[in-house]
Amino acid sequence: MAKVKCAWFDFASCEGCQIELTNYGEPFVQLLENVEPVEFREAMSEKTTEPIDVAFIEGSFTREADRRRLEDIRRRASVVVAYGACAACGGINALKNHQDDYAEAVYGDDKDRPHLNSQKALPISAAIKVDYEIPGCPMDKAEFIRIVTQLVKGTAKVYVPSYPVCMECKRNGTLCRYDDGDHCLGPVALAGCNAPCPAAGIPCEACRGMVKDANQDAMEKVLIENGELSEQRAKTKSRMFTANFRGDA
Ligand code: SF4
Ligand code: SF4
Ligand code: SF4
Repeated sequence: MAKVKCAWFDFASCEGCQIELTNYGEPFVQLLENVEPVEFREAMSEKTTEPIDVAFIEGSFTREADRRRLEDIRRRASVVVAYGACAACGGINALKNHQDDYAEAVYGDDKDRPHLNSQKALPISAAIKVDYEIPGCPMDKAEFIRIVTQLVKGTAKVYVPSYPVCMECKRNGTLCRYDDGDHCLGPVALAGCNAPCPAAGIPCEACRGMVKDANQDAMEKVLIENGELSEQRAKTKSRMFTANFRGDA
């Protein structure tokens, strides 16, 4: 069987999702039995302008100037997968969508340099049709391997639970962060990760997005009243990875 030609492309991101794969070891090496990487910036210097079976896109769409590159990838790829929170929902980059003076705050006197010109941080699906999204910051590498293995077999189905992370946490018998004097976004966070953060004693920050119709105002109230966060911190906390889920973005 011919190997599936795959290319990894990055836009506004930290490239941490690519690094997750290069650090994964044996499961990623096994994947290479059926997959031929033809472009993968963190692991090889070759680039391609040829047709691709699967394009994996990391990072947000945050510059109009990137639209043409995205459209070219879409034209060449049979399947487009947006992986990681930045690509799937805007991720942490979307925090700037709530702040008018972010360019000055980050770049100071350099803020007007042309290559720093950017707009709202949006998911890749805002620019081109995306066939599959793999959420998470970083994306769950086991989930990535599972979906790519299914794609190779031509049977990919992305299962997205409709319930919050609290369900997985309770199922695992994990001590609730609120019972430990902490805070957590689990009640509104979209499950699917099996709640590793509370299990490790740290709050869930909803890196996979939010459940449908999440009551974010109520969540902020809980962060203030039960998590003992200030009003400002509750607001920024509740947007950490989900700023584009807010109606006021
Ligand atoms: S999703 Fe997270 S780890 Fe992946 S590129 Fe974006 S910021 Fe980096
Ligand atoms: S630790 Fe977080 S995810 Fe787990 S039950 Fe408590 S609020 Fe929910
Ligand atoms: S527990 Fe929350 S922050 Fe941690 S991986 Fe799952 S969704 Fe992301």
